[in-house]
Amino acid sequence: MKRREFISKVGAGSLALGAVATAGCQQKPADCGPTDAAKSAAAPASSRPIEWKMVTTWPKNFPGLGTGANFLAKTIEDMSGGRIRVKVYGAGEMAPAFEIFDVVSKGAAELGHGSAYYWKGKNPALQFFSTVPFGLTADEMNAWLYHGGGMELWREAYKPFGLAPMAAGNTGVQMAGWFNKEINSLDDLKGLKMRIPGLGGEVLKRAGGTPVNLPGGELFTAMQSGALDATEWVNPYNDLAFGLFKAAKYYYYPGWHEPGTTLECFVNQKAFDALPSDLQSIVLNAARVANQDMLAEYIARNNDALVKLVDEHKVDVRKLPDDVIENLRTLSDEVVAEVAAGSEQAKKIYESYRAFREKVMRWEEISEKAYLMARG
Ligand code: CA
Repeated sequence: MKRREFISKVGAGSLALGAVATAGCQQKPADCGPTDAAKSAAAPASSRPIEWKMVTTWPKNFPGLGTGANFLAKTIEDMSGGRIRVKVYGAGEMAPAFEIFDVVSKGAAELGHGSAYYWKGKNPALQFFSTVPFGLTADEMNAWLYHGGGMELWREAYKPFGLAPMAAGNTGVQMAGWFNKEINSLDDLKGLKMRIPGLGGEVLKRAGGTPVNLPGGELFTAMQSGALDATEWVNPYNDLAFGLFKAAKYYYYPGWHEPGTTLECFVNQKAFDALPSDLQSIVLNAARVANQDMLAEYIARNNDALVKLVDEHKVDVRKLPDDVIENLRTLSDEVVAEVAAGSEQAKKIYESYRAFREKVMRWEEISEKAYLMARG
């Protein structure tokens, strides 16, 4: 067995054994040195750490998303005992937001933090790994990815780009967005110029609107100048941070287009393969921790942010009319089916997603949904 393979298999246990062996030799130092495993296990602490770069689609330190990327970077560093160090770059620092996929694919950075629907130009099927209008919630999405075959399909889809994806956060249900005109019927969406990415944008187009994909950092100016009539971003916590309430009249819910958006961290496959297996496990499991932590943070922070928006900034929060929602659901089904028909791969991913959604809805009907109704 090669030494590296042995160490990674022995893992943390060898550190403990090594420490005992060394302590036991203090009486007769000439008789015994540290075991090979102990030497090697101790080596990373004194050897040069692996320096990685993480490029992101978010403004540096942006609440929830940018800080979620920071959290993941720090978790990788902490869990690896400093053997991997990750420097996080905000959008535009090393590469523009929507170029990070290529940057990591080429190996100029090892990690990228974004969301899969930003890469629909590469392959429309990738949007299923971000969010789907009227699709899975955050909990359901994680269930599909981790225990429903979703992760395997996602890895397969990123493989041609030399990338390995990981779920690294979730926003939960988003808001429908900020509008400068009332939405009373589907006709009110006609001619609407709105920032709305992914499949939701395609649905808006189908409703007669003009979807625009802009990075978050440009939304406030675009709304204030009138270049956009409407924009969605994330949820109260994030939308408050961008000050969008100062540039729009109405704040609509629910986020039919993004019911539980998965944020991703993709790693350059070659860089990942070069890691010993214990560090590979650390990277993968740090992402799992970050995935859960972001959702918890959003749920915790949205509460205070909503109170602030409504009570302090007097935001007009409105529910989209039921018939608008119903029409959007019909259009969404059409759009999603068309994307699914686009390629064999899209069909395979869609079938897995659709079958999972159907099954999970039966359970949710008598669990989460029933409970929320019961709670009142
Ligand atoms: Ca959004």
